[in-house]
Amino acid sequence: MAKKPGRSTGKHATKSTGETAGKNAGKAAKKSAPPREPGDRWETPAADVLRWVRGTDLSTLDQAGTPGWAGDRADGEKLMATRGEELADLQERLFAHGRTGGDRSVLLVLQGLDTSGKGGIVRHVVGMVDPQGVMHRGFGVPTPEEQQHDYLWRIRNALPRPGYLGVFDRSHHEQVLVVRVDRLEPVRVWRKHFAELNAFETEVAAAGSAIVKVTLVVSPDEQKTRLAKRLDRPDKHWKYNPSDIDVRLKRPEYLAAYQEMLDRTSTKDAPWYVVPADRKWYARLAVTELLTDALRSLDLGWPPADFDVAAEKARLAET
Ligand code: ATP
Repeated sequence: MAKKPGRSTGKHATKSTGETAGKNAGKAAKKSAPPREPGDRWETPAADVLRWVRGTDLSTLDQAGTPGWAGDRADGEKLMATRGEELADLQERLFAHGRTGGDRSVLLVLQGLDTSGKGGIVRHVVGMVDPQGVMHRGFGVPTPEEQQHDYLWRIRNALPRPGYLGVFDRSHHEQVLVVRVDRLEPVRVWRKHFAELNAFETEVAAAGSAIVKVTLVVSPDEQKTRLAKRLDRPDKHWKYNPSDIDVRLKRPEYLAAYQEMLDRTSTKDAPWYVVPADRKWYARLAVTELLTDALRSLDLGWPPADFDVAAEKARLAET
């Protein structure tokens, strides 16, 4: 039988909700720092430098920054390639683990305003692993069927099965974002969701999922440039939605909603990482690193054969 790995989420883990990243950084780095790849220019591990610290003022984030990374874009792209190989190997181990009775999975949650690059993360980061092992789901305006159920129904249905990497493009957290900003529910109702989201994620983690939540933050100027590009290029028109401008105009309300979401739903079981997203290469590198860390923390080996390898070799030789 496959060895059952521990439930620790490794160096991401904080002692309790809202504990400072700073306090954990040294300890975490000592505990599980893997040997460095040539070209690894992380001077502070991504998980430590990007993990949300409750009370940080989101509006002060440098969206064009590259926190923790001492190299340039070319260095970043080089490391992406080697990390990609490691990521693919770790994901295959996870898949094999699921196929042999294991209960672990990984859930990557992506949030961010329009044009923040969620789709690019899916293509360029998740795209480096075998798609057979990925359960991807985007969450838009709830369908009539989804509206018949409570808001977590569609989320539960999309959770990764054991052995899978689940990817949520938007998520249950929209219930304290668009629902709040567009006043789709009364305040007394959406306010309750913070505790519900945390209880839900505790349950998901207890069932075997390592949860990595990423908020991508793009600056207003860069967002304008990206929207303009979508309008200028006929091959990008399908990505444009006139409501993107309405949402853009509500940026202050969204920032307030994101701030509270981060402060109230970043927990030991499901920490948030806030990733500056103006430099796409950095955001992709950072999420690659976070995902690789989450998979490493599962500490999965290859499942042992449940047949006699020597006997099978002998049988094959006879054919
Ligand atoms: P994206 O902007 O994420 O690339 P998109 O423009 O292609 O996606 P969809 O994925 O179909 O559009 O839907 C995204 C929209 O759905 C967003 O405007 C988001 O606010 C909205 N949405 C997501 N969850 C909810 C929810 N629970 N209630 C209301 N609206 C929601």
